[in-house]
Amino acid sequence: MNDNATPRWDDQLRANGYRVTPQRHLVFQAVAELHHGTPEEIYGHVHSQVEGVNLSTVYRTLEVLENVGLITHTHIEHGSPTYHEVQSQGHVHLVCRQCKAVNALAAEQVRPFVEALQQDPGFTVDLGHLAIHGMCAGCSETSGVAVAIRKDHTDE
Ligand SMILES: [Zn+2]
Ligand SMILES: [Zn+2]
Ligand SMILES: [Zn+2]
Repeated sequence: MNDNATPRWDDQLRANGYRVTPQRHLVFQAVAELHHGTPEEIYGHVHSQVEGVNLSTVYRTLEVLENVGLITHTHIEHGSPTYHEVQSQGHVHLVCRQCKAVNALAAEQVRPFVEALQQDPGFTVDLGHLAIHGMCAGCSETSGVAVAIRKDHTDE
């Protein structure tokens, strides 16, 4: 059972007692295709392919897909969570406050930090949920700041 084969998305729904519906398939596909998307973006993607799917259905479907472990979320923006596939969660998000670019940093690159927390205080990090906000290399260069330390508090 636990080989490298990824469980099929529909099996994962059935195994958790959910029906496989075209809408669930569409929403899951939208997350996979967008890589990262807020409910609104996912809705936009689905809506461009089929009509008759509304935003609240997308919200409910995202909850179902998250419950069965197909997708998970991070917080890139204030407000809506951003969803991505569980399969792709071996990364940390680097979010540029200036240009809003989101770059994925491989889990490997933060391994010392993750391992240190694991050892003391024995904390297991949910990597896929982690978003680090700051300024990307390009924006740091143009603004002449190497390390962005913002005094304003946008986190509420
Ligand atoms: Zn969260
Ligand atoms: Zn992600
Ligand atoms: Zn930037």
